[in-house]
Amino acid sequence: MFSKLIGNIFPTTKFYFKWPISFSTFMIFVIMILIIMFDSLKIVEGCSSRKVLEDTITERPGSKPTEQPKPAVEQPQCKPYTGDSINPVAGLTTNEWRTRYKMAMLLGGSADAIGYYRGRWEFQLKGQIIHDEVKAKGGIKSLNVSKPNWTLSDDTIMHLATGEAITEYIKTSANDLEKLYITIAKHYIKCMLDMVDRAPGTTTMKTVAMLDANDPKGYIIPFDDRGGGCGGAMRSMCIGLLYPDPKQLDLLIAVSIESGRMTHNHPTGFLGSLTSALFTHYAIQGKPVHMWGAGLMETLDKAWQYVNKVGRDVEKNKGAWSYFRDSWSRYLKIRCLEGGTQPLFPSPYGVRERDKFYKEISFDGWGGASGHDAPMIAYDAFVGAGNSWEELANRAFFHGGDSDSTAIIAATWFAISYGHKDVPVNNYQYLEYRDRLETVGEEIFNYVEKYFNEPKM
Ligand SMILES: [Mg+2]
Repeated sequence: MFSKLIGNIFPTTKFYFKWPISFSTFMIFVIMILIIMFDSLKIVEGCSSRKVLEDTITERPGSKPTEQPKPAVEQPQCKPYTGDSINPVAGLTTNEWRTRYKMAMLLGGSADAIGYYRGRWEFQLKGQIIHDEVKAKGGIKSLNVSKPNWTLSDDTIMHLATGEAITEYIKTSANDLEKLYITIAKHYIKCMLDMVDRAPGTTTMKTVAMLDANDPKGYIIPFDDRGGGCGGAMRSMCIGLLYPDPKQLDLLIAVSIESGRMTHNHPTGFLGSLTSALFTHYAIQGKPVHMWGAGLMETLDKAWQYVNKVGRDVEKNKGAWSYFRDSWSRYLKIRCLEGGTQPLFPSPYGVRERDKFYKEISFDGWGGASGHDAPMIAYDAFVGAGNSWEELANRAFFHGGDSDSTAIIAATWFAISYGHKDVPVNNYQYLEYRDRLETVGEEIFNYVEKYFNEPKM
């Protein structure tokens, strides 16, 4: 009876443990949990919580104001861009666009569930082990992504929260951004009730507890020296869905920054939110992929103007601003992606080389765990993979870093750009919360449909 009771209280533990167990075994289990909790006092924030490993994470971006910048990189020999200029979204019908919006939310969720694999792959530090396990399962085409083995992680739950806040907002008061912000805060608070077995980040849990949906300014939290994790970047792509028009860039900047700094009030964190939304906005416009980084660098100036104009934490933001910009500038130079040139990838650039590179561009050794490198790794994978879902997975879902966050970001851009035609149906058909994800995509599309019916230059 005891075992049955425990099994009912903790149904997900059935995945790992076979009941019934004895009382003494259960007590050992409880003690182990307490030890882990005690140890986790040393936890530092990625997008998801994990224990500190001796040779990896020590602190978050911004927590070391005197940190020395990474050494300058030599400018590689970049060649003029020679790729084809086919716009993958040119000529789509209204119905095709509606499907892309739905699939953007859905494939993002699918990629998150795959990259997460209930923590097994998200927290695996060796990409090669993940690749070996994927191969043993028959490759990505053989992954039947459904519960109980494949559940959504915090990334999709929070992306859904952003998206459902947007859909609530556009049905009622779509001209008052303050209302949108407090609606987003309300959904972030609510979604915390659905975080069991989803590995939410420690910064997010801590800061959501500061939000107050009953106070019109309750979406504002204090500046956070340690708020540079990727929790803002992993959940903002749907803001790009809401603002597809180049004329809406100022709105996109405002909403992505404010929603990002509701939990990650540090430029490295909230500029990650801006980047994930901005690149979704670019994907919808069919902007050539090799130009996205240059677009980001220009947009950062506008982002600073916005932060300065709003006037919150201006001096602190100024002091912490350069890490994000310098990291991206360095990356774009290495890859010949500063604008107008052919992207340059090393050869070979396999699993081991990618793991090494992702670690190098990270803040502290866990690639994709910060606001700057989650969208950066997603972008690196997206540029390198082209229209291949399998290659995108190899690069963005299966690596030794924070793989579910880079996965959801890259897969959202993929779905907008290339659709779901070549994605195995079993990767998303029975995905948890499929209806909710598709509904968000469809309702946002219905709201912005007019933009797609207007002739474009
Ligand atoms: Mg996660």
